[in-house]
Amino acid sequence: MTLRPLDLDPTHCLIGGTWAPTDAGETLPLIDPSDGATLCEIARGKSTDIDRAVIAARAAFDGPWGRSTAVERGRILSKIGALVLENTEALAELEARDVGKPLSQARADVIALARYMEFYAGAVDKLHGQTIPYLDGYTVYTLREAHGVTGHIIPWNYPMQIIGRSVGAALATGNAAVLKPAEEACLTALAFGELARRAGLPDGALNVVPGLGAEAGAALTGHAGVNHISFTGSVATGRAVQQAAGANVIPVTLELGGKSPQLVFDDADIDAALPFLVNAGIQNAGQTCSASSRILVQRGVYAEVVSKMAERYAALCAGPAMSDLSVGPLVSMRQKQIVDGFLAKGADLTMIAQGHIAEDAPAGGAYVAPTLFEGVPADHVLAQDEVFGPVQVLIPFEDEAEALAIANGTAYGLVASVWSRDGARQMRLARALRAGQVFVNNYGAGGGVELPFGGSGLSGHGREKGFEALYGFTTLKTVAAYHG
Ligand code: NAD
Repeated sequence: MTLRPLDLDPTHCLIGGTWAPTDAGETLPLIDPSDGATLCEIARGKSTDIDRAVIAARAAFDGPWGRSTAVERGRILSKIGALVLENTEALAELEARDVGKPLSQARADVIALARYMEFYAGAVDKLHGQTIPYLDGYTVYTLREAHGVTGHIIPWNYPMQIIGRSVGAALATGNAAVLKPAEEACLTALAFGELARRAGLPDGALNVVPGLGAEAGAALTGHAGVNHISFTGSVATGRAVQQAAGANVIPVTLELGGKSPQLVFDDADIDAALPFLVNAGIQNAGQTCSASSRILVQRGVYAEVVSKMAERYAALCAGPAMSDLSVGPLVSMRQKQIVDGFLAKGADLTMIAQGHIAEDAPAGGAYVAPTLFEGVPADHVLAQDEVFGPVQVLIPFEDEAEALAIANGTAYGLVASVWSRDGARQMRLARALRAGQVFVNNYGAGGGVELPFGGSGLSGHGREKGFEALYGFTTLKTVAAYHG
């Protein structure tokens, strides 16, 4: 298979501006989750390939790329964004087939990737240091400088969006990047590497090495030549990544998912809330770090929300990505087994609605019918653990204090939303909710390239997206000049 229209061979990786097989020449099968067939073979990068990629990145950073101006880098990012948009349909199809994402959701991810390039292109020449009043005879100022070589380990659920928010910000600030995409879905990462090359990004400024987490991933996070790691994925792997980075004493950004609640109060506009309540749970088949998997509802409107959500669930249908239904397959049979395992743990709960699996969905696809439970105790495993599938739980509450206790009562803290017409309550909860993002009378705010994003607790630490990412991908130098 070649990646049309870019004419790429996915068994190759991009190192130092050149596409070539890995040192060992080994490959891995890439499975189409819509039917279980092998889509193509991909490169199986290992530690020697990562070594070469880090060396190439270092050479780029030590060369003209490391000395480029913000304006020059912004222009290249703008060109990458324009090329991404020109290839919207091809990229959307790659992402849909690879991830199992309904085509229109994949198309939205292409637009988001382009938006990240546009945003960072326009933002980076506004990044500046400060002057600091100090002792008589001194001028003190700060400089924002790139870390150097940045490692990016990304998952399979939103490859394009996560490349945009992390690699985009790293390149904008003048770092040289090594990207290790997930073994389950890496085609758009390869395509992005080629588009960046065509946009004029210097050789080595972005290197893309697919491979297994335990091989290429671990080699990158433990590499002594890497100065910063950005990781998005599971809590278990996040811990391993942080430990590996700790050995080299380098900063890490960890984005590890969540158990994000939406709080619906008696005075909320229920019909306005409904599409957000459901979509935030089933988008990308629930395989979204910021998925809203817990819906907390005040008693006065609980019965209404239960019946209206159940009605929407009954209309949901899972099917092949290219059929573009409301839900696609999960990314893999392994992920389906994880989600089926959680559903089995919900056997003691009241399941009030399930969507369907399309009759013509291939038997080899990783399909799970969207499932809604109600009356779920706040300490139940389905109300505490990240399922990463199209499963939501409804939890009733009496008053604001109870809602807050339940909302903050998991080990995660990524996103939350408040549905209420009471302005004082909105403000109180926006402060009190433990989450990196709080939405009021909406959820997710349309993608939000501009909005800083990240969590606390098991959701991780550090912020990406928005202007804040430019701080994260730079380090601060203070210059104190004595001139008398
Ligand atoms: P994972 O964290 O193992 O994989 C994510 C990325 O990390 C992949 O690129 C993988 O190759 C890499 N990786 C794996 N082991 C590594 C290691 N030792 N060192 C460096 N990199 C390594 O996640 P998974 O196994 O694909 O999914 C398991 C669960 O993780 C899911 O069920 C879900 O709950 C969660 N998850 C969360 C997100 C998110 O966006 N927060 C994304 C994917 C998965």
